[in-house]
Amino acid sequence: MARDILDLMAAWDGLGVVCRHDRPTGTWIFICLHNDKLGAPTGGSRMKVYPDIADGLEDGMRLAEGMTYKWAGIGVAGGGGKAVLALEKPLEGEERNGLLQRYGELIESLGGRFRTGEDLGTTTEDMNLVAKSTRHVQGFRNGVKINPSPFTAQGVFSGIKAALGVAFGDDSPADRTILVQGVGNVGATLARLLKEAGARILVNDLDAQRAAELAAELGGTPVSNDDLFTTECDVYAPCAIGATLNETTIAQLACKIVGGSANNQLAEAADGERLHERGILYAPDYIINAGGAYSFALLEDGVTEDAEILARMDTIGVTVTEILSEAVRDNETPVAVARRRVERVLEA
Ligand code: NAD
Repeated sequence: MARDILDLMAAWDGLGVVCRHDRPTGTWIFICLHNDKLGAPTGGSRMKVYPDIADGLEDGMRLAEGMTYKWAGIGVAGGGGKAVLALEKPLEGEERNGLLQRYGELIESLGGRFRTGEDLGTTTEDMNLVAKSTRHVQGFRNGVKINPSPFTAQGVFSGIKAALGVAFGDDSPADRTILVQGVGNVGATLARLLKEAGARILVNDLDAQRAAELAAELGGTPVSNDDLFTTECDVYAPCAIGATLNETTIAQLACKIVGGSANNQLAEAADGERLHERGILYAPDYIINAGGAYSFALLEDGVTEDAEILARMDTIGVTVTEILSEAVRDNETPVAVARRRVERVLEA
């Protein structure tokens, strides 16, 4: 295990990793700092049990890199960073609260070199607790921590419309079939927005009951895990976990567009090419899912009304349109176009 961690650190192009073993809970904390050209590394805190500690570090490194692209991609002055709290076992009550408090102290000791918010496995309440021991938690409005998920969902909604516009020449979701995988905080809100806009909704979730309930609410159809990638639809919206797009699943996909909130949707870089070869338009994850991060930046710029923050999420649609249009025009992958855009910003 130690060897893997050293190999990962040696191969990484980031600034460095702050690593702490939290003895009372046995948790490994990795604060991965990827890039600070545009501002202090800023990204969410993921809490999860990993099969191996090195998997947690690798996840944190990939996610931190994604944050560098995310901030640069939407033109916000933030750096790439992400934290992983790799648990030995799920934690509850006092044990969990103690860990979060000590994690806050660790962030505070970095003096603003890392700023954070919620991510998979951490809640808005958790971030309130972390904020008791550090000033470097994002997303407070009048002293109250806000939940970024509705803004992320609105940004994905805007990005899906943009992709429909590029693929079909009409950005309306009306009568389009959209499969949302993972109907938690972001996915359920997204599904409701799409339904309101007239789309036919297909729903998949590891929690079959959650999927069935939302499908019933929206007059949609639940899709089983077995049928997930072969079900015909206009848009597949991954809003659950990363790496759902790989050589096997891309060969099965029966959609025209992929656009959803999950981070690191491509299992490997070649998957961007594979989607392109299959004629599937892919909205790069770190652009289309940037709404939550963007909402925090807007709050810090004094944009505090929900309605105005939601309206600003149209920026994400504009960016997705620019990237996908350029990709279609030049017969390139959207991944390559987005990457070039980000590099231009970082170099400038
Ligand atoms: P969540 O935990 O509220 O919801 C995730 C849902 O996915 C749950 O319903 C869960 O049962 C389901 N799920 C988990 N594994 C699954 C699988 N293998 N197949 C199908 N369903 C599965 O999380 P969320 O806040 O809605 O975030 C969803 C995704 O979007 C995550 O990947 C997250 O990193 C990403 N994201 C979220 C935000 C945000 O603002 N919340 C911002 C950017 C990116």
